[in-house]
Amino acid sequence: MPEHLASRISTIATPAYVVDMAALMRNMETASLIRREAGCRILLSTKAFALPEVFPLMREHLDGTSASGLYEARLGREEFGKEVHVFSPAYREETFGEILGVCDHVTFNSPSQLERFLPAVEKSGKGVRAGIRVNPGYSRVTLGGELYDPCSPRSRFGVRRHLLDVLPWDSLDFIHVHALCESLHDGSTALIEHVGKTLGEYVRRVGAVNFGGGHFINKQGYDVWQLIRAVRSFRQTFGVEVILEPGSGLVVDAGYLVSTVLDIVHNETDIAVLDTSAACHMPDVLEVPYTPPVLGAQAPGVLPYTCILAGPTCMTGDIIGEYSFEEPLEPGDRLVFGDMLQYSFVKNNTFNGMPLPDIGLLHEDAGYEVVRRFGYTDFRGRL
Ligand SMILES: *Cc1c(COP(=O)(O)O)cnc(C)c1O
Repeated sequence: MPEHLASRISTIATPAYVVDMAALMRNMETASLIRREAGCRILLSTKAFALPEVFPLMREHLDGTSASGLYEARLGREEFGKEVHVFSPAYREETFGEILGVCDHVTFNSPSQLERFLPAVEKSGKGVRAGIRVNPGYSRVTLGGELYDPCSPRSRFGVRRHLLDVLPWDSLDFIHVHALCESLHDGSTALIEHVGKTLGEYVRRVGAVNFGGGHFINKQGYDVWQLIRAVRSFRQTFGVEVILEPGSGLVVDAGYLVSTVLDIVHNETDIAVLDTSAACHMPDVLEVPYTPPVLGAQAPGVLPYTCILAGPTCMTGDIIGEYSFEEPLEPGDRLVFGDMLQYSFVKNNTFNGMPLPDIGLLHEDAGYEVVRRFGYTDFRGRL
C-alpha cells in the first residue's frame, strides 16, 4: 500500500472510492506525452469515469470528452469544457436537437441514422462535424470476450465494410472505429494498421479518424512509443487528424475502493462480510467477471489465512472473491481494493437499499477530502 494511503487509511469513512491524485496526475502526463509526440487528440470517455471535481486537472491534459448520449454530452459541455464528441447506437428525434446544441462531433452508427439526422446537422449551422462508425471486422479485446467485443458476430456496432460505398461521403467529416478493450500497444497498433490497410480508400475521403477507446495507455506493459509511432505513420500516410477516446486507459490503477470488515462467518471456510458489495459498488466484478486486487492480499492458499470476501446484500452471488492474507481478518479491519476508478461509481446502484460509497480525493501531501457523500434521498429518489 502506498505510504500516503497507509498513513490516512484509518481516517477514511467507508465504503469510499478514493482517487489517488498523484497516480491520476501520472496518467494524465502519459496522455500529454502521446498528444504531443503523436500529434493526435485524446478525449476522456465519460462512460468509464466522470468526476467533475477532477475535471480541472484532466482538462489541462486532454482535448475534451467523448459521450454516449445526451446526458454525458451535456456533462462534458457544462463541466469539462473543450470538445464534446458523441456516439450513440441510435439517436432519438426528441433529443437530437439538444445533442446538437452541446456537441462538436456526432458519430452515427448506421446508414439509416445518417439519412434521418444528417439534414438536422447541416441545417443547424453550428459547424458540428458528422462521422460514421465503421465495424472493422477486427478487434483485439483482452477483457470479457464477446461481452465487450464491438466486432463480435452479429454486433450492432458500426457499418460493415461491404455497405460503405453507398454512404454520403461528401457529407462525412470523420470515420470512427472502436474495437479494443483493455488492449496493450500491440492491440492499438494492429487496429491502426488494419484500418490503414483495409479502409484506406474511405480514410482518404474524410478529415479525421477516431480510433475509439480500449487503448490501455497507462497499464503496466503498454509501450506508448509504439502507439505514438503508429499514429504518426497513419497521419503521414493519409494526411488526416487522429483522435483517441480512452476511458479505462486514463484512470487505470489511479484509485481504490476502501471498505471495512463487518463480520466473519463460517461455512466450510471463513467468509468476511464487508460494508461494500460487488453487486452494487463494483458491478464489473460480477459482469466481466473478474477478481479485483486487494492490497496486501494474494490468491487463495498463498498466504497463511484464506477467506472469501462478500458483500452485505441478500444476493447469494454477491461475492467479491477468495483471497489469502498474512493474518486472520477481524471485524473493523480495513481492506483496500485496487484499480477501482474505471466503470465503478459510474455504474453503481442502490439495490437492497445499499448506501453508495463516498467519493474522495487522496492528495499526496494535503490529506483526504470527501467530495461526494450520498444518503437515503439518493436511494429514495430513484424509486
Ligand atoms: C466504451 C467506449 C470507449 C471507452 O472505452 P475504454 O475501454 O474505457 O477505453 C470509447 N469509445 C466508445 C465508442 C466506447 O463505446
